Amino acid sequence: MAQTSRTSAKGAAKSLPFFDWHVMETYIDDQREMKQLMYDLFKSHPEMLTPVEEGLTKEEHRERVRQQLRLMLTVGINPMQMFSRDMKKYFYLAECMALIDLSLTVKAGVQFSLWGGRLKVPDPHGGRAMVDHGVHAFIVPLRDDAGQLLPGVEIHDCGYKVGLNGVDNGAIRFTHVRIPRVNLLDRFGSVDKSGRYSSPLTSQGRRFAATLGELTGGRVGLCSGSVGTLKGALCIAIRYCAQRQQFGPPDAQEVAVLDYQSTQQRLIPMLATCYGLHFAKQLLVDRYCEMKRTKDHKLVEEVHALSAGLKAYTTRFTQNALSVCREACGGHGYAAVNRLGALRSDHDIFQTFEGDNTVLLQQVSGLLLKEYRSQFQGAPLSSTFAFLRQLAASSLPNNPLVTHETDVRHLRDPSFLASALEYRTARMLFTLSLRLRKHTPRVGSFEAWNK
Ligand SMILES: Cc1cc2nc3c(=O)[nH]c(=O)nc-3n(C[C@H](O)[C@H](O)[C@H](O)COP(=O)(O)OP(=O)(O)OC[C@H]3O[C@@H](n4cnc5c(N)ncnc54)[C@H](O)[C@@H]3O)c2cc1C
Repeated sequence: MAQTSRTSAKGAAKSLPFFDWHVMETYIDDQREMKQLMYDLFKSHPEMLTPVEEGLTKEEHRERVRQQLRLMLTVGINPMQMFSRDMKKYFYLAECMALIDLSLTVKAGVQFSLWGGRLKVPDPHGGRAMVDHGVHAFIVPLRDDAGQLLPGVEIHDCGYKVGLNGVDNGAIRFTHVRIPRVNLLDRFGSVDKSGRYSSPLTSQGRRFAATLGELTGGRVGLCSGSVGTLKGALCIAIRYCAQRQQFGPPDAQEVAVLDYQSTQQRLIPMLATCYGLHFAKQLLVDRYCEMKRTKDHKLVEEVHALSAGLKAYTTRFTQNALSVCREACGGHGYAAVNRLGALRSDHDIFQTFEGDNTVLLQQVSGLLLKEYRSQFQGAPLSSTFAFLRQLAASSLPNNPLVTHETDVRHLRDPSFLASALEYRTARMLFTLSLRLRKHTPRVGSFEAWNK
């Protein structure tokens, strides 16, 4: 890398490595044109941005988000079309929208992916079924042509929330509402005119998994929005810390707060994780698109686990990072104009909706255990010990704790790190399954899991 120079605290020129951000951007980002289009659009329409300093009422905020969506349509950024034609682009858009307003990401996600995305294929059929065949998705009309609520339908606005007030969340109650058979979204199960039920999926379990699998797209969108938020927050904090000078050696120029090791230790590992999460999110998007293309049921399960785990990990990480970024900017981090406070309030609920993080992580553990058990079905404990021994031997051939191999190249070798993580996961699964085996006979499976 070429060298460049910068003046240090004592005035002497310090040699710094040259960093070509264009090269990095080209490497990590294959959708730069859309990002540019989005950001240029809002730069040229600053009146469409959500004001951060004076508060909007929820009605004003909701209207602003609607206007932002309409503005995007005028230059051909059509989230619904993207979701149908190019999902990768759609998820990238979710990331870009996060930095315009997180309410925009969520509004578009619910409108176009969660709801609109389910209606891509029309499903006309008719009749009546009397047997419970499990969970199915229906369209239930809420209002008549004049916009009035239909009989048996009540809608209650959720009122002011801690954040995301540009999204019109509400609760809906149905009382004895009946719908025609044609309103069933019947890709996974349909009813003919005589009331006969049929499904291309043989078991109720598979149908349930397929129906819920349709919801994984929401988590992929949340991962994208969360990674976008993290990138934005780190940009704000790191740029501010690079130019904010505070204290320094006696009789010398003050030092940029980013030059303090404690600031670097707070921000730079988070920046590194941000790159990691960017690539993990890209992998998730790729797997999700492949699942939609192939409809392979094995992949449905894998994407369910991946999206649940990554959504929980990413959103929790970003929420903590938002607080650290705010603190790193000192008192200025608390000024509304710097956006970290609004991002923190808006992003907080990402840890809860589309599945509470704690519950999602338990689901991931459950799926991993299922996989683990299927490998050792009926095998004695000694065979799992043997598996772990073998894994340890093959995955940690140069374990630094054993060999005292502390060479930087070795410790940073991705294949060593990956196998160390693999070994740790296998070991934790093994001890978890041992504990479940121990407690289940005495207290039952629910209590054993709880323990
Ligand atoms: C702004 C907003 C928008 C939303 N949008 C939608 C939407 O568009 N569509 C929709 O369907 N839903 C929506 N939701 C609902 C959302 O998905 C739920 O709030 C979320 O899934 C969590 O469920 P809950 O609120 O019932 O929490 P609970 O399940 O009551 O959880 C409360 C606490 O109990 C803990 N807990 C629960 N179960 C367990 C367990 N088994 N083991 C250990 N701990 C447990 C949780 O970790 C959590 O801390 C929205 C919610 C909000 C706030």
